[in-house]
Amino acid sequence: MRWSERQRTMLQAMGLRLFGAATASALPGVPAVSPRPAARAGGPAAAAPAARGATVAAPTGTDVATLDWTALRAAVAACRACALCESRQQTVFGVGHAHAHWMVVGEAPGEQEDRQGEPFVGPAGQLLDNMLRSIGLTRSDAPPERQVFIANTLKCRPPRNRNPDPAETAQCAPFLERQIALIAPRIILAMGRFAAQALLASDAPLGKLRGRVHQYRGVPVVVTYHPAYLLRTPADKARAWEDLCLAASVVQGGATA
Ligand code: URA
Repeated sequence: MRWSERQRTMLQAMGLRLFGAATASALPGVPAVSPRPAARAGGPAAAAPAARGATVAAPTGTDVATLDWTALRAAVAACRACALCESRQQTVFGVGHAHAHWMVVGEAPGEQEDRQGEPFVGPAGQLLDNMLRSIGLTRSDAPPERQVFIANTLKCRPPRNRNPDPAETAQCAPFLERQIALIAPRIILAMGRFAAQALLASDAPLGKLRGRVHQYRGVPVVVTYHPAYLLRTPADKARAWEDLCLAASVVQGGATA
């Protein structure tokens, strides 16, 4: 296959090396890291500090479904519906454009996200930023067709980065549902097994969910690998690139469920 200059630039941004002119193969190792913006605009999508020690119970799913963006952010910050509130430093609401065309959904905050109040700020986040950049997207200030919104299935960090448990995922689901309803994205990119299974209410393995367009309440969903997995398994970056291309074709109107 021949790669145009633009495609080469995009693949390199993802850390994919082109061997000869024939094909794209994954670089064994961590990809080049782009500089990250020092601070992200406050705006509607900036992370809010936690209301630590608050006694507010989480609203029920029905209540959450009526909240506007500001009230939703406050409800997340005040949530004490499960035990994760005891060990978190702060909730991680999400970052990006409140009317983004692209929404990225990950698993749960890790240590650095818990500390900084923003999703995907560690090494996996740097790879995510490169993946987004490879298709002309960013988490930084930009118009809604270019600035994504990044959220997690869970808004609080599970201790020691353990897997989310099903009760926590169910408890937190109304927040993600409401975020999706308010943003009304044109595509959701579900990153990793937990995000995919939660959104699609499926227990199928990630490999079975990739490669086609699903629906979440009328919004197309494309499933791909979690960036942390791609850091450990760079050979699968080429497949992740295919997933990004599939998602991009949905947004451009070329692929349907
Ligand atoms: N992994 C995730 O799924 N989300 C984050 O915010 C960070 C790491």
